[in-house]
Amino acid sequence: MSNAFRIDTTRRKARLGRLLTPHAEIETPVFMPVGTQATVKAIPQDTLEELGAQIILGNTYHLYLRPGVETVRRMGGLHEFMSWRRAILTDSGGFQVFSLNELRKVNEEGVTFRSHLDGSSHFFSPESAMEAQIWLGADIIMAFDECTEFPADRARARASMQMTARWAARSKKYFEEHKHEVLWSAPSQIPTLAAKSAARMGHPDHVGTAALGCPAEQSSAAAPASSRSPGQPGAAVTTQTIAAPQSEQTQSLFGIVQGGMDRELRKESAERTIEIGFPAYAIGGLSVGEPRELTREIVESTLEHLPSDKPRYLMGVGTPEEIVEYASLGVDMMDCVLPTRAARHGLLFTSEGKVSIKQARYAQDPAPLDPNCGCRVCQRYSRAYLRHLYASNEVLAQLLNTVHNLSFYLDTMRRVRHSISLGEESRFLSGLWSRPKP
Ligand SMILES: [Zn+2]
Repeated sequence: MSNAFRIDTTRRKARLGRLLTPHAEIETPVFMPVGTQATVKAIPQDTLEELGAQIILGNTYHLYLRPGVETVRRMGGLHEFMSWRRAILTDSGGFQVFSLNELRKVNEEGVTFRSHLDGSSHFFSPESAMEAQIWLGADIIMAFDECTEFPADRARARASMQMTARWAARSKKYFEEHKHEVLWSAPSQIPTLAAKSAARMGHPDHVGTAALGCPAEQSSAAAPASSRSPGQPGAAVTTQTIAAPQSEQTQSLFGIVQGGMDRELRKESAERTIEIGFPAYAIGGLSVGEPRELTREIVESTLEHLPSDKPRYLMGVGTPEEIVEYASLGVDMMDCVLPTRAARHGLLFTSEGKVSIKQARYAQDPAPLDPNCGCRVCQRYSRAYLRHLYASNEVLAQLLNTVHNLSFYLDTMRRVRHSISLGEESRFLSGLWSRPKP
């Protein structure tokens, strides 16, 4: 099985588990940093590894427009392209497309939209969104859904939810028919940088063959490279592989529950999505402008309708205190742009509350940003220096601020997992980390 999920411990509703993906085993609950354009903004991949990021997100819409899924595939897929050896999840592109407002047109077949880059016209359907995600080659990919706007009346939310269900069925059908086309479906299909560089020296065709392998080529190359003699087809560029799938594996396609802010529609959406059948279920369409209490209410009621033995992914949420709260409700996976985006605006999350580093009061403050944080920023630099970098608009400010915020989020989730393992799930709700600093 490509993406097996095992729950090790449960404490009330919270669960401590392991999700096995083709490129990494992930401890859950997990926070996933967002790497929109094949980069978590301002952070090099080795730093992400050092911070303990287990899985990161890529955005299909952005990568489809630039550099293009064909380019990424020619470069060996998203892992190889961005040199990230751990797990990756791509969204379906739906959320970004629906954020375009006047630039899009929706019908049963799919969505026509205009690029925010150059105004060119494009079309996403469940099938083409699956194709793009298979070509990008993340470990986990998402069904194409319609993210219902807020507010929406019941008729609109119902129609949107029903279309998402039909699109989920089409997404699954296409995925099942094409899932073996992912580059790393067979381990011998994964070209290493060394192999590619050797190929560039004199055998460019070999790279093209490996990188663009069609299903027939993949099945003929399914046996381990070591079992073939060098002269056999498919052996030339595949004698070394990166730390990746050891046997024939595929991506995992997650279903998405929609239904707006209506509990009944959410229940119906969950039932219909489960009936189609996915290895995991996401809750989408939240954090779209609704009050936070309503987000929590919808999450809690939707979780009741999701199978307890499958991973549950809450999309696009939230503050440090919210990710703790949702983990305690039984959410296994979360992602949010907040830690990285806020960092670039000088808003930092600490164990003592939020810090707006631009404020003049930090101009001569020699203390570390967060005395309880073990990250390399808090170990080395003062608030005064961070404030100076930010005020001077130095590039380093973005890097250091993002390192700290991501460290704080990943550390928070590490503490959540530790608390669940010790049976202290109520304790991690007691800290209000995001309260304003006095
Ligand atoms: Zn720190």
